[in-house]
Amino acid sequence: MQLHNTATGRKELFVPQDPQRITMYVCGPTVYSYAHIGNARPAVVFDVLARLLRRQYPRVDYARNITDIDDKINAAAARESVEIGVITSRYVAAYHEDLAALGVAPADFEPRVTEHIPQIIAMIERLIASGHAYAAENHVLFSVPSYPDYGQLSRRDPRELLAGARVEVAPYKKDPGDFVLWKPSPPELPGWDSPPSWGCGRGRPGWHIECSAMAEALLGDTIDIHGGGHDLIFPHHENERAQSTCAHGGAVFARYWLHNGFLTMDSEKMSKSIGNVLLVREILKVAPGEAVRLALLTGHYRQPLDWNDEAIADARRKLDRLYGALRDTADVAPATTFKAPQAFIAALEDDINTPAALAELFELARSLNKAETVEDKARLRAQLLDGGELLGLLQQDPAAWFSHSTAASSVSNDEIDTLVAQRAEAKKVRNFAEADRIRDALKAQGILIEDSAQGTRWRSTN
Ligand code: AMP
Ligand code: ZN
Repeated sequence: MQLHNTATGRKELFVPQDPQRITMYVCGPTVYSYAHIGNARPAVVFDVLARLLRRQYPRVDYARNITDIDDKINAAAARESVEIGVITSRYVAAYHEDLAALGVAPADFEPRVTEHIPQIIAMIERLIASGHAYAAENHVLFSVPSYPDYGQLSRRDPRELLAGARVEVAPYKKDPGDFVLWKPSPPELPGWDSPPSWGCGRGRPGWHIECSAMAEALLGDTIDIHGGGHDLIFPHHENERAQSTCAHGGAVFARYWLHNGFLTMDSEKMSKSIGNVLLVREILKVAPGEAVRLALLTGHYRQPLDWNDEAIADARRKLDRLYGALRDTADVAPATTFKAPQAFIAALEDDINTPAALAELFELARSLNKAETVEDKARLRAQLLDGGELLGLLQQDPAAWFSHSTAASSVSNDEIDTLVAQRAEAKKVRNFAEADRIRDALKAQGILIEDSAQGTRWRSTN
């Protein structure tokens, strides 16, 4: 498998540290609001990578954290006059719901910052003891000049950083590039006591140290794959790398750094200030989760991906084609000894090339539509279903797919089936006017009837 490594700027052969246990850490959400469709992109992309790795290695330890302490969470809690736990548990639950609807399997570990404060404090202690961090005015700061490799991941010139162009200038920093590991918490905000030797009193961790400490606690000093959106390369991942490498006596922190490109809305950056943020749960009201997932996989993960109405409509049509091939051959049991073909696997192994892998699925569906023998159908069905599983697609009954968006339709599946049967009766007695009336009535509800060699079937266009 080849993966593009941000640290080297190249596609590299993936050679795990220990083939018996693959370790992967992906930065997860800060839970102060609902996930938008951009946030769903890394979740879906790294879910595909985890599925692929699980096929190839006996054990994959995949951690995706939850940041449950943060200024934005504090602000949301203050606005509603509730404890931060009320805010974080609400949005963790919503995040789980959204990801489940997109077919994202749970990660093996979902560490929360508030449950790892001792580990975070211990890591800061080690950084202070080794001269990589210092306490000043109730803060603990990482000393950037103490780590000469700083800037290598994001390929930034430390001098430029140190000039203070991109960093917050504060009087307690020895160097403008130094960043916060621990900061004070006023009595009304959540906080934890810090070791007396720091002289900092009650406080809370900075954002970057959380991931370093949780990755260490769950996955060890050196991890195979570290992922996230490309906005995290600097400063978040640069800082994680500095902390972990210095806390581990120079051991490599992450061997492969993977970053997904950004999702845009109608070619514009998705951002709260522009007001074009599209929540996953809003999209799920009008489109099936599986179509949303496929739409997210139509582009290569490193490229920007534009989100617009056509992207979802296109994904639905694609799933109609794939499920259509499965439905038309539903009488043939898949020959499960056949797995996804090599060309499909090769596409995924080529830096998770999901557009190429999807093209292989369409090729399989085309062949399945043309297949004449039961053997061919059984093999192609198995290959299509197995490839679908690796992408997290095609795992529902085709009938369920074609009846999907009933949420937006006012007729139930049973009512539709009854009307379809009545129409068949009407046709049998050559009452075509009645048959057409039923068809048009259903069409008005967004239900399309199609007569095929396999009989009459219907699908929702809602
Ligand atoms: P956040 O909650 O903002 O820290 O984001 C969680 C994850 O979503 C991070 O990996 C971000 O890089 C990623 N992310 C945020 N916005 C977008 C976007 N518009 N497109 C792709 N990924 C994004
Ligand atoms: Zn992180």
